[in-house]
Amino acid sequence: MTTVADVMDALERRFPLDLAESWDVNGLSVGHPDAPVTRILFAVDPVLAVVEEAIEEGCDMIVTHHPLMLRGVTTVHAGTAKGAVVHRLIENGIALYNAHTNADAAGSGVADALAVALGVTGGIPLVPLPGDAEQGTGRIGRLDAPMTLAEFAGRASQALPETMHGVRVAGDLTGDVRTVAVVGGAGDSFLDAAAAAGADVYVTADLRHHPASEARESAMLRDGRPYLVDVAHYASEWTWLTAAAEYVGDAAGIDTIVSTLTTDPWNARF
Ligand SMILES: [Zn+2]
Repeated sequence: MTTVADVMDALERRFPLDLAESWDVNGLSVGHPDAPVTRILFAVDPVLAVVEEAIEEGCDMIVTHHPLMLRGVTTVHAGTAKGAVVHRLIENGIALYNAHTNADAAGSGVADALAVALGVTGGIPLVPLPGDAEQGTGRIGRLDAPMTLAEFAGRASQALPETMHGVRVAGDLTGDVRTVAVVGGAGDSFLDAAAAAGADVYVTADLRHHPASEARESAMLRDGRPYLVDVAHYASEWTWLTAAAEYVGDAAGIDTIVSTLTTDPWNARF
C-alpha cells in the first residue's frame, strides 16, 4: 500500500525541500501522511475546479506547483475561497501537497521541463545555486539547429497549452536564435542574467512593461539579443506536470494523471 508519506518521500528526493526560497511554503498542506493513495492528480494551481476534477477522477491526492496558503491564514471558513478548497479536500479524503520554488531550483524541475519542451538540450542552470552547478534558477542551453525568432515562437505556441495570453514576442522576427534561456513563472528579475549568459532569446512569464522595455533598450545597444518571449505564467510551469507525474508514478508505483484544466485566470481577449 502506498501512503501519502511514501509519495512525499518520492517527491522530496527529486525536489528537496531545502532548495526552496525562505519565504516559500512547500509540502503537505491538507491530509494524513499515513493515508493510502491510489491515484494522484498533478496541477499548477490548487483551485476549486482542480479539486472537483480530482473528485471526478477518483484521486486521493493532488500535487500542485503553487501553494494553497502562502501568506498567513486566520480562517478556513468554507465561505472563503481557500477555506472552500480545504473543506472539499477533507470531505473527500484528498491530500494536497505542493512543490514550488524547490521544484523551480531542482535539476529535473520546472525550468528543465520547460527547456526540454522547447527543444533546448544540454541545459544548465541560468543562475546556479552556490557550489551546485546542477541546480538553481532557470535553464540555458541550445537548440539542435538555429531557427528564426518567429519559428521559435511558433514552437513555443505548439509546445505549451493554449491560453488567452498567447505567446508575446519582442525582437526581430527574422533574427536567428540558438542559445535559449528559460525561467518558469515570473522571470522579470532574471532579464540581466539571460543577457549576461549570452542567450539569443529569453523565455519566461509575467514580464512587466518597465523591466521588459529597459531590457529591450539595452539589447538594442548590442545586436538586439536576447529577444524576449513572454508566455502565460501557468503555461510556463505546466510542462513540469507531465515530468513530475511520470517520475512519481514510477518512483511510488502509483497511478498519476495530469489536470486537463487551464488554470490561467484570463478567459477572453478583445
Ligand atoms: Zn508560478
